[in-house]
Amino acid sequence: PVEVFDLVIFGGTGDLARRKILPGLYLRWLAGQIPAEARIIGAARGELDDQGFRDFVAASIEEFVARDRKDKAAIKGFLERLHYVAIDVTGEKGWKDLKALGREGAVQAFYFSVAPALFGAIAERLRSYEIAGAEARIVVEKPFGRDLASARALNATLAQHFEEGQIYRIDHYLGKETVQNLMAVRFANILFEPLWKSEYIDHVQITVAETVGVEGRGAYYDKSGAMRDMVQNHIMQLLCLIAMEPPYHFDPDAVRDEKLKVIRALDPVKPEDIVRGQYLAGAGEGSYLEHSGNKDSRTESYIALKVHISNWRWKGTPFYLRTGKRLRARESEIAITFREPPHSIFDDHSGWRENVLVIRLQPDEGMNLKVMIKEPGPGGMRLTQVPLDMSFAEALANTMEDVPDAYERLIMDVIRGNQTLFMRGDEVEAAWAWTDPIIQGWEARGDRPQGYDPGTSGPEDALMLMHRDGRRWRGIG
Ligand code: NAD
Repeated sequence: PVEVFDLVIFGGTGDLARRKILPGLYLRWLAGQIPAEARIIGAARGELDDQGFRDFVAASIEEFVARDRKDKAAIKGFLERLHYVAIDVTGEKGWKDLKALGREGAVQAFYFSVAPALFGAIAERLRSYEIAGAEARIVVEKPFGRDLASARALNATLAQHFEEGQIYRIDHYLGKETVQNLMAVRFANILFEPLWKSEYIDHVQITVAETVGVEGRGAYYDKSGAMRDMVQNHIMQLLCLIAMEPPYHFDPDAVRDEKLKVIRALDPVKPEDIVRGQYLAGAGEGSYLEHSGNKDSRTESYIALKVHISNWRWKGTPFYLRTGKRLRARESEIAITFREPPHSIFDDHSGWRENVLVIRLQPDEGMNLKVMIKEPGPGGMRLTQVPLDMSFAEALANTMEDVPDAYERLIMDVIRGNQTLFMRGDEVEAAWAWTDPIIQGWEARGDRPQGYDPGTSGPEDALMLMHRDGRRWRGIG
């Protein structure tokens, strides 16, 4: 179990709390990781009492926890850990009640599961009401700004009231099992690291494909788009873990220092290396323009980019990034394509293909290394490629069952005081500093996203982005 804690969730009755945070906490309780003296305190606008909040959480567990994890006695015990304070985070209501709940000897954590516009008001009152102690931790959700200026302003606001070591900026991608596994694969094996450079790696592809559209949250999404919503944060984090130098130790600042260096080494992206798309109507579903409620929208629901990292290790190895909605399959993967051997000793080289290391994040987390072998049979020395496929679920059948979801793990890391899997302020700012001119560029040029059919792998131009380099995207689905 972790230490005894009091976790206050501002926005405890919101959508994120209901779908992720509270069911996640229940599952950690079920796993025996949360001590019986811990308290979880919902703080939101609704006029609930403790019982009302417990009913709300019981319903969220009912809806979002798998049937075989619903244990009557465990749920009852978990609900007893819950309290509620009706609060107005921009006014004075409720703050004294929250302070009255304070106690000595428990880790204090405050989860800001509210719109970022409210972060400042909460941070200030946690201090002025003397609720947050010197060791308190605060957890903030995405989006962390929508450009460099707003991210800097947010960081500055939080920094008025809290030290960087107290601030946990969530990027739930970093909580995924396979994403952390990237670090283990790279740095606990001698096999890959000597080849992990442009001399031996031809290119890297990172794909985050979704089948859902933006229906239901189109108006919100239309203000951000795929670049802000996915690339600046999640895909950037994946790129950093692939590209970073070995940290001297698996320690929060050592890891984050190395990630920061990667972001700073990213080249500006040329207009011809960017393809943006918007999904068209199809299969009984509306188009992006209909879902966003904005007929003239130029916001992208798909983006592909060719990115260069200007440093010793990666000069000459492009990273192709793509993400989009309403694509053929829900699939996230990183594929590392190695170069051709310097010389072929075989007369028949026709079956030869590049070695590819594929790291699948979802579905079916695992790794697949494509290697060349001799084609079996009497036909002489002909080459063929086979996969060395490893599904983590199969290989680790018993242990994978209880692998916590990203939110579960990250919240427990907050309680443990481990910031390794959280973004540091300078990292977020550096990511925006790279993103801003790209977005400003297409805005200034008045570029329009290209339409693409739903259920495909995206716009035609995205294929060209690779074909013109003599490469091709891996298939989706
Ligand atoms: P929501 O609108 O569903 O919930 C907002 C919560 O904040 C409610 O509990 C509400 O009572 C509370 N609240 C609002 N104004 C308040 C005030 N003045 N005083 C006290 N409480 C107030 O929002 P959400 O979808 O849960 O999102 C919360 C945060 O998480 C946002 O920053 C959002 O961008 C982020 N986020 C959400 C999701 C998601 O899947 N919903 C995913 C990633 C990030």
